[in-house]
Amino acid sequence: MISKLRIVREVTGLNYWNLDHTRDWTGIVYHHFATPDGERRDARSVQRYHIEENGWSDIGYHFVVERYKGAYVIIEARPLIRIGAHTKGYMNRVAIGVALAGNFDKGYPDIGQIILARKLTLTLRARFKIPVPKIRTHSEFSEKSCPGNFLPPEIIRLFFA
Ligand SMILES: [Zn+2]
Repeated sequence: MISKLRIVREVTGLNYWNLDHTRDWTGIVYHHFATPDGERRDARSVQRYHIEENGWSDIGYHFVVERYKGAYVIIEARPLIRIGAHTKGYMNRVAIGVALAGNFDKGYPDIGQIILARKLTLTLRARFKIPVPKIRTHSEFSEKSCPGNFLPPEIIRLFFA
């Protein structure tokens, strides 16, 4: 089942179904897009990559925060009723996967992207009662730098607390 990738401009526009028809998530894991060719920068192309190159059923992340037509938007990707495919092992089953479009090994995200990601995070934290220590990064579970050397776990927890 391939997700439609619904575009949301404000957190208040999040699909109620998506937040209501869900699993009991206990955490969030943050990612960025640093695909091997460094070219894929939006949810649509990452979805294609995850399906065609990785052989998955769908994009691995539940949400993506990316630039669309000049403004940052939230993409509702994999529905919250389904476990993710973003962090090898257990975290896929318990943590919502959120990806920031961009390569943050090279620099910081724009403030607009951070603000929207923060709003999304606060909304998810309120909905699922997720405490700050359960805000994690892919880099805490893998050798990868994801979501980038400019976004280590302490900074992510500070931004999104
Ligand atoms: Zn990652």
